[in-house]
Amino acid sequence: MAAVNPAKTLQEETTCPICLEYFTDPVSLDCDHNFCRACITQCWEGSQTVSCPQSCCKAVLMALPPPSSRAMTDPALK
Ligand SMILES: [Zn+2]
Ligand SMILES: [Zn+2]
Repeated sequence: MAAVNPAKTLQEETTCPICLEYFTDPVSLDCDHNFCRACITQCWEGSQTVSCPQSCCKAVLMALPPPSSRAMTDPALK
């Protein structure tokens, strides 16, 4: 039996700080924080500033992730 469980420290990095669940379609920000795509999209929706929602970070990010809900799935292209 292993005395140390390496998954213990990994736990924090596999859960989204917004929904506190395991990542669904995780995206990595420039500040190395990870969030579900749905969570980060919702967080930034209607917001003028794009910044890291992690309270201990708040890094301001310039680039938005590609929009996933609107014009991404075009059946004509497939
Ligand atoms: Zn989430
Ligand atoms: Zn961050």
